[in-house]
Amino acid sequence: MTGTSETLRGDVLVRARDLQVHFPVRAGGLRRKRVGAVRAVDGVDLEVRRGETLGLVGESGCGKSTLGNALLRLVEPTGGTVEFDGTDVTALGKRDLRALRRRAVMVFQDPYASLDPRTTVGQTVAEPLEVHGLHPGRQARAARVAELLELVGMDPSVASRYPHEFSGGQRQRVGIARALAGEPDFVVCDEAIASLDVSVQAQVLNLLRRLQRQLGLTYLFVSHDLSAVRHVSDRIAVMYLGRVVEVGTAEQVSGDPQHPYTRALLSAVPVPDPVRERRRERIVLAGDVPSASKVPSGCRFRTRCPHAFEPCPDVDPALQEVRGGQAAACHLHGVVGVGDRADAVR
Ligand code: SF4
Repeated sequence: MTGTSETLRGDVLVRARDLQVHFPVRAGGLRRKRVGAVRAVDGVDLEVRRGETLGLVGESGCGKSTLGNALLRLVEPTGGTVEFDGTDVTALGKRDLRALRRRAVMVFQDPYASLDPRTTVGQTVAEPLEVHGLHPGRQARAARVAELLELVGMDPSVASRYPHEFSGGQRQRVGIARALAGEPDFVVCDEAIASLDVSVQAQVLNLLRRLQRQLGLTYLFVSHDLSAVRHVSDRIAVMYLGRVVEVGTAEQVSGDPQHPYTRALLSAVPVPDPVRERRRERIVLAGDVPSASKVPSGCRFRTRCPHAFEPCPDVDPALQEVRGGQAAACHLHGVVGVGDRADAVR
């Protein structure tokens, strides 16, 4: 959420290579046999650079939340690797995993569901301190809880109150205070503003932005809402059916998208200027997103792509650089020698 060119040059904090999360599909009676797999994340290569906000966008069910969870090893990858600050987290044992849980955390979508209604705000925020053995002793812990509540713009006196006494925005602040308790480097914000009113969304985004500047945080901002993502992100990765199909700076991806799916997503975002809004051309995709247990052959977007051509059903396009820092997984960009078509479809 800093948007600085310095951030864009930063080194890599989190790197996924050919990351896969496949969930088995079983059928039959008592001895339920594996009959297939839901390929929620299906060969993702992704880098999150230190200090940046990487927006991860795609329709619901495209695998973006599973990817966020897999980067933190909150779900177990079934293939590939995730490096956090140079260490392969897929190979970590219990103790090292606990250290990772301190440095890499999640802010959840639903502040109503993620807070225990029987636990006070103070106990909620103190929980990670206890788990990680930080600020031992009641007084030291209470002082740290007060500090964290102030950090997210809440009065420390709310520590003795319960979640139901607060609005959605305030509960999300409590969730953020808890996430920051262990002084993390990396925060996955999983649809963190989706369940809030629009006016509250802006406040929470401003808070996240301030915290990033103040604490030097790195964010993966997961959302189905491309207009929110492009306003908060330094770079954007677009996901379709378990795979990243485009990545680049926020300006590149939202100003000159290189993948037909990104173009379709952008064409659905309303424009504030009424004249431009009237002229906005909508790209309506054919059909629904295929099931992640029946991923189409070749390019997985081909069943809905208005530009599909000969190689698309047979050859799976790799994510390849189109121009400085922007990459797309599409044959229109010359994998099979048809580069000229990319300009023809704009
Ligand atoms: Fe469309 Fe083919 Fe490009 Fe896939 S590879 S996005 S089907 S043109």
